[in-house]
Amino acid sequence: MRRKNIALITAQPEASHELRIIKGISTQCRKYGYHVSVFTPMTHLEFQRDAYVKAESNIFRLVNFDRIDGLILDSVNLVPGDRSRFIDEILERLRDYPDLPVVSLEMFIEGLPMIRSNNEDALREMCRHAIEVHGKRELLVMTGGRGNEVAESRLKICLDEIEKHGLRVKDEHIVYGDFWYASGDELARKIADKTVSLPEAVLCTSTHMALGLIYRLRKLGIRIPEDVIVLGFDTTVEGCCNDVILSAYDAADASSAAGTVDYIRRIIDPGKEILPYEEDVKKMFFPGMSCGCTPRIEQTLNAFQRVAYLIAYNSSSDNESFEISFGRMMESYCMEEFTASRSPEECFRKMADMSYLLKPFRDYQLCLRKDWIEESDVPKGYPPEMTVFLTAWVTPDYLCKADCTPLTFETEKMTPLFEDETIEPSIFYFSPIHFEGINFGYSVLRRSLEDPPTLTLTYRTWLRFVNNALEMTRTRKQLLSLSIRDSMTGLYNRRGMQLQLEKAGLRERSGERLFAAVVDMDRLKKINDTYGHTEGDYGIMITAEAVRQSALPEEICVRAGGDEFYIIGIGLYDPDDFPARKERFRKLLQELHAKSGKSFPISASIGFSCEVIGEDTNPDTVINRADKEMYEEKVRSRAERMDP
Ligand code: GH3
Ligand code: MG
Repeated sequence: MRRKNIALITAQPEASHELRIIKGISTQCRKYGYHVSVFTPMTHLEFQRDAYVKAESNIFRLVNFDRIDGLILDSVNLVPGDRSRFIDEILERLRDYPDLPVVSLEMFIEGLPMIRSNNEDALREMCRHAIEVHGKRELLVMTGGRGNEVAESRLKICLDEIEKHGLRVKDEHIVYGDFWYASGDELARKIADKTVSLPEAVLCTSTHMALGLIYRLRKLGIRIPEDVIVLGFDTTVEGCCNDVILSAYDAADASSAAGTVDYIRRIIDPGKEILPYEEDVKKMFFPGMSCGCTPRIEQTLNAFQRVAYLIAYNSSSDNESFEISFGRMMESYCMEEFTASRSPEECFRKMADMSYLLKPFRDYQLCLRKDWIEESDVPKGYPPEMTVFLTAWVTPDYLCKADCTPLTFETEKMTPLFEDETIEPSIFYFSPIHFEGINFGYSVLRRSLEDPPTLTLTYRTWLRFVNNALEMTRTRKQLLSLSIRDSMTGLYNRRGMQLQLEKAGLRERSGERLFAAVVDMDRLKKINDTYGHTEGDYGIMITAEAVRQSALPEEICVRAGGDEFYIIGIGLYDPDDFPARKERFRKLLQELHAKSGKSFPISASIGFSCEVIGEDTNPDTVINRADKEMYEEKVRSRAERMDP
């Protein structure tokens, strides 16, 4: 039976908040035997490069609502600034799926159920800590923007808890900011210039404000924790690694995210058991120097390990296969390797060889548009079919294997992996592959839910290397094509002919024959003079088309200059076939020309030649002989027409 699949739409999955959400969702899905599919741009959506963000957010369009069983929107993350175009587009598409269970995390969206973290306990605990543990009475509470629902509710909880202790917060000590560093910085300046009186403790309802505040207060000579203590809410790696380690309480995102899975389960598997999500509350307080507590060394180290990308192995993890491998990635010079590829095939091969850098993973797929290498404008969405150009997988004994045989599949399946019903409960990350606004396709990374489910910067960096390498391969191919082809007809120029002949390996084909046809338009000068240069150009193009259509697939078609063309081939040519082939060419040229409805005549003279390939076969000699034959024919036809 097909395994149920819960989709999460988010952005920047390796950020602290998203890591917790993914942890909560994965933990529940593992218990229930569901897959998790994460559709995620690898950047935050406020990033200023519009074309880049568009191509990144394209991944949202890949979600096929017919093939998932529930959808979780990490809504706060999908609203850059106050615009909600991403959510609006998703909602628009969801209209056709009224039965699909959809939940919004943290943010109210009309028509959708919302699950919000219950942070009340942690916020009250933060206040109690300042009052009961550190004996502070003069408290300042700093929250997000005035009127912002989350900011107001966090403020209200803090003020209520403080009042319960018989304390009152002065008006000037209720401060609205924007949850971000700058507002902490601004408060520090006001305290320093005494616009706001110095409190004994500042309670910040976000970590970033607390960090901005601590930084500026110290710069302005106010000591922490001696002069004032600072506590934050919603821990981040940054707070744990700050030089004055921030005392902070963790947000309960993981358990609210787990709650979204339970909500969906009640709908898709009614009557089945709901298993509690156990959050270790003890681990939710991160003591630091900012309040005068002694930091818990293992918490700090843990956070540090997450950012210490130069540590190759994390042997303190309970999963031996979890390698923090950013350093290894840099040392592998994979970016340079990928970029140096001379062909797309070489590029995919190198990516296959280096896929070990993505561990832990079970499957990795690079799914691209079939025409990715030709693409030059800004296509929307993904075409009905995609091709896997690289598949890598990891064996049970943790060896990396890879295959670069292209495999085409219907895009509505999202990945061929979903067809495999034997796959254990897994998390699938779908992320876009593009260069600026040019959309190539997407990557799929599958991890078992037994592995650490979250991504690190390594994966994001890998994707960016892949993006750049594909663009380089594409550009290289285009430039090469420009230098070896004639721009008017698209046929090879003489340089292109040389390169193609080298590729064909003339010397290794002894015994076969080298064939050359030379075609030259009749009286082009006259057409130019009588009907104009544009009509002359038309004559060249129609003759080129006849050359192209009359040639065999492996033959090399060349515009040798002006109105002269070559067809070069290697194979088992028989001169007895030449008259018939010449006739076919003439007929084709007349047919193509007739379609144009032009009144003036067009014709060309043709010469053929071939010789058995030996030690000293020279293409020029064969071409010259064909040229001679062509010229003789031209003279004959001129005489017939009685041209001068
Ligand atoms: P012939 O029947 O003997 O082949 O005479 P022709 O008029 O075709 O002249 P010839 O093959 O000796 O030379 C080709 C002429 O084609 C020279 C030049 O005026 C013209 N020509 C060359 N390149 C172009 C082009 O790109 N566009 C046009 N319209 N004319 C070109
Ligand atoms: Mg000519």
